Amino acid sequence: MQDKADISFHVPSIGEEEIAEVVDTLRSGWLTTGRRTEQFEREFREYVGAPHALAVNSCTAALHLALISLGIGSGDEVITTPLTFCATVNAILHVGATPVLADIGPDGNLDVRSVEERITRRTRAILPVHFAGLPCRMDAIWDLARRYGLQVIEDAAHAAGATYDGRRIGASGDGGPESDAVAFSFYATKNITTGEGGMVTTPRADIAQRMRILCLHGISADAWKRYSVKGNWKYSVVECGWKYNLSDIQSAIGIHQLRKLDSFTQAKTALARRYSERLCRLDEVETPAEFARGTHAWHLYCIRLRTELLSIDRDEFILELREYGIGASVHFIPIPLHPAYAGICSLSADLCPRAMEMYPRLVTLPLYPSMTESQADRVIDAVEMILTRHRSHSRVRVSSIAV
Ligand SMILES: *Cc1c(COP(=O)(O)O)cnc(C)c1O
Repeated sequence: MQDKADISFHVPSIGEEEIAEVVDTLRSGWLTTGRRTEQFEREFREYVGAPHALAVNSCTAALHLALISLGIGSGDEVITTPLTFCATVNAILHVGATPVLADIGPDGNLDVRSVEERITRRTRAILPVHFAGLPCRMDAIWDLARRYGLQVIEDAAHAAGATYDGRRIGASGDGGPESDAVAFSFYATKNITTGEGGMVTTPRADIAQRMRILCLHGISADAWKRYSVKGNWKYSVVECGWKYNLSDIQSAIGIHQLRKLDSFTQAKTALARRYSERLCRLDEVETPAEFARGTHAWHLYCIRLRTELLSIDRDEFILELREYGIGASVHFIPIPLHPAYAGICSLSADLCPRAMEMYPRLVTLPLYPSMTESQADRVIDAVEMILTRHRSHSRVRVSSIAV
């Protein structure tokens, strides 16, 4: 083991195409939002099949703009998941609304029955996260939203490239069921990256227009012309907005990443199957579910340890993986465990016992497009060795009684 190179938790796949496009951009004399960002938006729109796409500098910004543009603010409640990155909840808090946690199901996604239980007269929207790249049961969420008159904003930070009922996550405007806005992340470890970046798609022209204005200080939409050769120095600020635009340097990377997205997903899907095939034979491991109604984007490969069968805990397991030179992580520390949210009763652990129970068993193994089969096998071998070494004695007794 020692003589082999470490296996990092994540390695971005940046090719010569991305590098050449960035260099061209740097030489072009136009660095900020311009023609490459326009191209990235157009190609992203075409890829997911949505009428409108706005490139922004993060998924957090995309969520923030979507919530504001949909008129969600003080006094409103937004139902979301505890098994997410803090950005999801922060975006809701930043518009002055109240995030309310529903619990998750065994697949790590929002449990729709729990969402329905959380609906009050103040509820305005549901904000599901496609955990690890596994699409949520959107049919049930859309149905709830329709019955209670709620808006739906998808946090698709993990889901670029995933499909649901034959349509890509983010698709809209084709007559099918749809969300009001869908936010994507191009953070360094996500399915595709621009270093930092994001995109928001929407079927609604009014929302698209409002987000476009708010993403650049609230400068009136026609001022966007100033980014072209015929640009004018004159503009007016029609609303107090933010500085959330994506630069052409970042879009230069994104254009080529997007063209590779399907091949990235394919490579990760093959590796995920390789992991599951062997890991599902271990009693101490629960492997992630595949998805019958669509395709998983495999942003993350998350296993759950049956720690009751082990003499070590999850943290010790991750430390031992590190001794084998393997990087692992945990997705996510549930929202109620962060000190910043301690005083907010709608974010309390009581609302999500299943997420709290799952957390100490979660481990995310390395998964990225350039990972080789033999690297995946080394990860599996290490998991097997660690688990074999730490099978708890109580388990041996139990199984011998069973025999
Ligand atoms: C990464 C992530 C975000 C935030 O993405 P940024 O582009 O870094 O703002 C939001 N939600 C989830 C679930 C994420 O994993």
